[in-house]
This record gives sequence, C-alpha cells and structure tokens, in this order.
Amino acid sequence: MTRRQLLAYIPAAAALRSSRAADVPFEHIDTHTHIHRIVPELFAALEKDQWRCLSICVSRAIGDQASDLDEQIRGSAEVHRATKGRIAWATAFDARGFEDRDFAPRTIAAIQKAFDEGAIGVKIWKNIGMGIRGKSGYLLPDNAALSPVFDAIQKADKTLIAHIAEPDGAWMPIDKNNPEFGYYSQHPEWNMHNRPEMPRKDAILEARDRMLARHPKLRVVGCHLGSDEEHWDRLAKRLDTYPNFAVDMAARVRYFVRGDHEHARRFLTKYQDRVLYGTDFVLGSEDAAAAVHDIERPHNWDRQFFATKDTLTFRNSQTQGLGLPDSVVRKIFRENALRWLPGITAAA
Ligand SMILES: [Zn+2]
Repeated sequence: MTRRQLLAYIPAAAALRSSRAADVPFEHIDTHTHIHRIVPELFAALEKDQWRCLSICVSRAIGDQASDLDEQIRGSAEVHRATKGRIAWATAFDARGFEDRDFAPRTIAAIQKAFDEGAIGVKIWKNIGMGIRGKSGYLLPDNAALSPVFDAIQKADKTLIAHIAEPDGAWMPIDKNNPEFGYYSQHPEWNMHNRPEMPRKDAILEARDRMLARHPKLRVVGCHLGSDEEHWDRLAKRLDTYPNFAVDMAARVRYFVRGDHEHARRFLTKYQDRVLYGTDFVLGSEDAAAAVHDIERPHNWDRQFFATKDTLTFRNSQTQGLGLPDSVVRKIFRENALRWLPGITAAA
C-alpha cells in the first residue's frame, strides 16, 4: 500500500474508532449527591444503570441552630458499606467553633476518623462566608483558623469540596427576574439583597481564591461551577490561575442549557480536565420509586444533553444537545472524578 492509499483509509478508520468509542459503555459517576440513609431500591437502580455516586455531608447550621451532621456522617458511612463502595462519601465539619482554642485539633481528629471509615473528601459550605460569624466578624474561607484543617486534608491526600458563595441571584431581589427565584423564594434566609452588613459575593470568592493560593497542593472541587455559573470567562481565568482547582456542575446544568451553546462547548472542551459531573440529588423522605425516578431522570437527560445533538425538552421548551466529543464526555462523567476525587471507586 502506498502512503497515499494509506492516508485515504484514515478518515474511515477514525470514524469507525469514534463510533466504537461511543458504543463502549462506561460506568458514570455523579460526584455530588446527598444520600444518608439506606434505600435498597435506589442502590439496585444505580447498579443496574452502572452509575456510581459521591454522597456529601454538609454542615448547614448557623447561629445556635441544632446540627444534624453526626447523623449524616453515620448514615453516609453506612450507605458506603451497604453499597460496597458504589456510593462513596465525603464528610464535613461544623465551622462554628472556629474561634475556640481547640478548634483545629478537634476538627482534624473528627475528619481523620471519617477518613478511617472511608471518606474521600471534606465539604465546606456557603455558611462559610454567608452565615457563620464570630467575635471578629463573618468567617471567610481564608480565615487562618481553617488553615490547619485544610493542611490535614491535603496531607491525607483527600479532596476539599467547596460550596462557597452562591449564584448572582443571591444578591438580587427575589422576583421573577431572579434566575434563582425558585430557590430564594423557598430559602429567603440565603438571599443577601439589601443586606449590606453581609460580605459581597466577590469578597467571598476572592477569599476562596486566597485559600487556593495558600494551599497549592490541596485538591479543591468548587461546587456549582465554583459559583461562577454565569461567568464562564471569569471561571476560566480562575482555572488558569489555580491548577489545584476544579469545579462540579451540580444543579447548574441549566446554565449550560440556557446559555450560549457555542460558548459552552468551547469552555467545556478547553477545560475538559477540570469539570466534574454532579446532580445535587437529595434523598429526602419520598418513597423509593420516586427517589429512583429523581436520580435517573437527570442522569439520563444530562448525559444526552452533553453527549448528543438530540433535540430535548427543557422546561416546556426545546433545546439541542451540545454533542461534545466522546473523549470529553468520558472525562466529565467519569475520568475527572477519578483524578480529582481519588478513592471514589474504592470498595468498602
Ligand atoms: Zn449539594
């Protein structure tokens, strides 16, 4: 065969290869769920569908609210064992005591115990920046009190999962023009409009960035597109500046659906190693069949949206899938999770 003849074959061979790659099923990973109790039907559905999940504990309490964190931790460790590791888990800590003298040793001992029970990461939540305050004012993510905890997470080779700040809608009036009307009409306590005493969004994100810079070896996954859901160029700059930072898209796929699809494709292709798939599925008190439906629906829809150019229905209107290359889809739905959340597929 001459070189010319050989070259003539390459496009066909490449097309064959890519259609084969699309056909090869792989196990998908949802890196952002909240599953803290045993529901065998849900676990069976995940196994049948070949999905894995990360169940994340959250310390939501502020002020003198009661905390349910211990229950979440106990439940998550149990779910992890019951699913033989199909559902991995991440722990959390209550940051309210950050001014206590024994805060760091106490917190580090608690997260170490969770690591011993298989936790692969530690979550911090938006109450750091938007809710917890001490004598010196609101606690921000770069507070020195948190530093030894972050060091301990890094030394244990675990990942920090950081939901810091909120979508821009948190600083807008709660009305129909607010892109997050659904959430803030239900949770006005997290809406910061007309609350000048609270830290601004950019101040909170800049504090998070200083934390990223101070802990360059700490892997950090920023939840919800790092709260830059409407600012992909700004997020791109942050990803360029902080190589230890990746983001999940939990509960934010709709920003890609509603946004400019060409821009979305460019962003996701350029940062294909830095974006993780997640849903923010919450296992509430619904029955098992409803829970199965609630997790399978986004898994299937989102997969189709990113992987195909199919016409899809989104909230009573039509949209088209992004049709990302198979290699990118595989990174977003699996390989990035393996790299940014080591241990996520470990057996329990
Ligand atoms: Zn969540």
